Parts: sequence; C-alpha cells; structure tokens
Amino acid sequence: MFNRLYVHIPFCIKKCGYCAFVSGVPVENELEEYHELLISELDNHQLISEPLDSIYFGGGTPSLLKARQLSVLLNKIRYRMPFSENIEITLEANPCTINGVYLSAVRDAGINRISLGIQSFDDLFLTALGRIHTSEQSKRAFRDIRAAGFNNVSIDLMHSLPGETLEQWRSELLYATDLYPEHISVYGLTIEGNTPFALKYPNGSSQLIDEDLSADMFELADEILTGAGFEHYEIANYARPGYRSDHNSGYWKRDGYLGLGVAAHSFLRDGYGLRFSNPYTLEEYRSMTRSGKPTRLDEYSLTRQDAMSEYLYLGLRLSDGVKGSGFESEFGSSIDSIYETTVPDLGKLGLLSRDADTVRLTLKGMLLSNQVFSRFL
Ligand code: SF4
Repeated sequence: MFNRLYVHIPFCIKKCGYCAFVSGVPVENELEEYHELLISELDNHQLISEPLDSIYFGGGTPSLLKARQLSVLLNKIRYRMPFSENIEITLEANPCTINGVYLSAVRDAGINRISLGIQSFDDLFLTALGRIHTSEQSKRAFRDIRAAGFNNVSIDLMHSLPGETLEQWRSELLYATDLYPEHISVYGLTIEGNTPFALKYPNGSSQLIDEDLSADMFELADEILTGAGFEHYEIANYARPGYRSDHNSGYWKRDGYLGLGVAAHSFLRDGYGLRFSNPYTLEEYRSMTRSGKPTRLDEYSLTRQDAMSEYLYLGLRLSDGVKGSGFESEFGSSIDSIYETTVPDLGKLGLLSRDADTVRLTLKGMLLSNQVFSRFL
C-alpha cells in the first residue's frame, strides 16, 4: 500500500516573504506538543506498510526538532513499520538551526541525508527573500554537515530573484559546484497567493524578472551543473551518479506514501490509487489526533483515466522518461492508443522526444513542462 513516509513539521523561526508552505512561528511548547501529536497519529493508523524505502522530514523547518525528539520519532516509526536495508532518511535543515553537535546527534538517531535550504549565496538576495541566514552560515553549515559524517547532502538554490542578472546566477551555480554536494535542487522564484510577496508584486512573477531571462537561467543551470558532473535527472533536480533523491523519485514513480502531520498528503496504492490529506490547521490536526482516529480529508479514489494522466505527467518529470511497455503493462493499453495525437504533436513542437520504447521531455519540454502536462490531463 505504501513504502514511503513523509513527516511535516509546520514551524519556522520566521516566515519568509515568498513562502506559501503550511508553516508558522511556534508559540511556547508548541513543538513539544506537536511531537507528541505525531506519535499519537502514528498510533492511530492501522495501516500496514511495506518495508519503508524512505522517510522524509519536511516543512517548515524540521531541524527545529531536537535530536532527541527525532530519535524518539524514528524509533516509534521503526516499531510500527519495517525499514528496508538501504532506507534513505532525509532531514530538511535551515543553515542557522544546525551545528556540529546537533548534526552528530541526528546522524546517531538515524538521519542519513540532509537537505540544506541555502537558496542563495548572496546576502542581499537572502535579505530580500526574508531568509534568516547568511551566506557565511550556509557555508559553515555545509562544512559541519560533512564533518559530522554525512555523505549524502542536497542543497536548494533559487533563481529568478528580484533584479537578478544572468552573471549573478552564474556565480551562484559556481559556488554550488565548488561545495560539491551530492544533489542540487534548482527552483525559479514564483509569486504565490496570500504571501507578503503577492502584495509586493501584485502582477506576479513577470514583475520580478523577464520571462526570457528566467528561461536563460534554467538553461544555464543545466549547462553548468551537467558540465560539473551532475545528472539533470528531473526538471528541478540534479544529482551526482547514484545520489538521486530516492524519496522524491518515489513520488514521480507513483509509489505509495503516508503523510504524517498538519496538511500532509497521502497516496495509497489501492486500485488506481487513493489520495487524501490531513487537516490544514494545527487546531484541526490536534483535535483529529486526539480523537484517536485518522481523518482523511479530500479523499479521492483515482479513476483509470486519472491514473494514466498521472503516470505520464509525473513520469515525464524524470529524464528517464516514460516507457511505453511500462504504461501498457500497468493499464493494458498503449500510450498511442490513449493519447493518439498528443505525443506526435508535442514532438513536432520540440517538447517531447521518442526512441524505441521511451517518451521523454526535451530540455525545452522541461522548461515548458506545464504546457506539456496540460495536454495529458
Ligand atoms: S524556511 Fe522554508 S518553510 Fe520556513 S518560511 Fe522560509 S521558505 Fe517557508
């Protein structure tokens, strides 16, 4: 039914100006209480999992949890669900919330991958984004992570920042390759509703940066990072060989996952798939958890058509593309019989390429992926 677990930690020291994630600044004892609620939620579930291939602590800022709290949670999870031998356990961290002692302790607790939210190496951009850390703190955090023995580290970088030039973005990429993490996620800044940035830039992302320049930044990331030995294995993700994010790859391959915590989503491999969500506010989550029963909001059983669309628009995110034989064995029909004209049309536009059995996005298709995916809905 599921082989992956996501744990959402909805707390941050300060809210960043562009952030639309479910997170807020914790009030007194809220983190301790939340930790207990997660354990109760785990107890409330009667689901039986396959051996877990990955666990991901995301947020928010999961590195606000104490190492002892992570250890208790992981022990509790292991008690309820078997771990596969090579399980990947990721902790997202904000550079100014970690130090050597903390990192050694979380490694002892079982965390074996860190995802560090660097975003930029330029303090002026960090301030403009409302981030609480400096570039120097990011570099120190990265050194501390290595010194604590982590050999699987991801960093997040953002481009298309207000007023950013292509040369500034080139410097950011070169800093990143100098650090030489195992994995780099690269996102363009977008303006989301209900954020301070949405008020500041009412005309949306186009007000931040020219669309063509943003496309150039996407292409420059591909050029520099692949040139430095990273594989561009997903639209926004690059990895050194053997270091793709196993957890996120599971999402794109439609593996089942259970989400714990406020606003966490779940996907169970039941029929064509079952999706549901936890409550979106801490108050509702608290009351759900204390009731002793898991609440499934927005529960939805996918139809065959939904599942076929998902299979394509999630699978195409990966540079491996989608195999026609895999699609056929899953759904009993060929891609061509279902999407008769779509694949050839997108091929003519230079957005999809095709070899014997595989359909994949071109670099242009990755850049215009939303346009491609809308054709499979
Ligand atoms: S640290 Fe991340 S989750 Fe927290 S407010 Fe900033 S962008 Fe949002």
